[in-house]
Amino acid sequence: MRVLEVIQRSAKFLTNKGVDSSRLQAELLLAHVLKVPRMKLYLNFERELAEAELTSVRELVRRRGQREPLQHIVGSTSFCGLEVAVNRSVLVPRPETELLAELGWQFLNKRVASGTDALTALDFGTGSGCIAITVAAQCPAAKVVALDSSAEALALAKQNAERNGVDGRIEFLRSDGFAGLPSNTSFDLIISNPPYIPSGEIETLQPEVRDFDPREALDGGADGLDFYRRLAEQAPRFIRLNGRIMLEFGDGQAADIKRIFEHQRWITESVIEDYTQRPRIFIARRD
Ligand code: GLN
Repeated sequence: MRVLEVIQRSAKFLTNKGVDSSRLQAELLLAHVLKVPRMKLYLNFERELAEAELTSVRELVRRRGQREPLQHIVGSTSFCGLEVAVNRSVLVPRPETELLAELGWQFLNKRVASGTDALTALDFGTGSGCIAITVAAQCPAAKVVALDSSAEALALAKQNAERNGVDGRIEFLRSDGFAGLPSNTSFDLIISNPPYIPSGEIETLQPEVRDFDPREALDGGADGLDFYRRLAEQAPRFIRLNGRIMLEFGDGQAADIKRIFEHQRWITESVIEDYTQRPRIFIARRD
């Protein structure tokens, strides 16, 4: 069978299984098996696949048809241009989160420019480590604490930091919330993409998320806001003068989060929209 035909058949199969962007997904899986950039497939539509290649593609397409995320099948994803390995113990990093990471390192770099050194950031619930790693990579003056309650997630985050050459400036800390942080620690930036899906809505999510992202990475309690309440209440003593908290949140949560934080005497600085014009990131400070 030739490249073009494999793509067409796989895409059709994936469409029938309810997979979005099935043609793109088929192309990415085939490119992965053939170890070429996706665009190269277009120059080789007539290439005949070897039997072994065909067997591999079939297997991967079958898995994708069972709604296993593409990122799990190929083993990694790109986050702010860095390669980040993922598996079932971490949330697959999302494009919205790239914006959060970028706001984080831009803030830190501004502080560097204004003469502050020895900058520190806390990535609260680091998962794959994507935020901690990109912040460390883009702000060489910063030290980052990557905190998570899951030992498996931290092991993967550490590997990801090594792979991207920033493990020397990231401390990995296993802790459920702030409990594991020494009480005299403080940060210029506390950044987090906490679990924010209301428990009752998890069943309604697409299978790739519902069945493959760890539940602890999604479940934000009855109204989805448990982690924001914890952060609003407990983060103040870990934030430095003129520091910021930057948090991703879910659809329709902006007003509640603003209220929760202001109730704990935070000052809302801004609410930033994502690439689809939905309010997505909350930024606040203390005075
Ligand atoms: N910080 C990781 C991410 O943004 C994990 C977040 C989570 O598990 N909720 O992808």
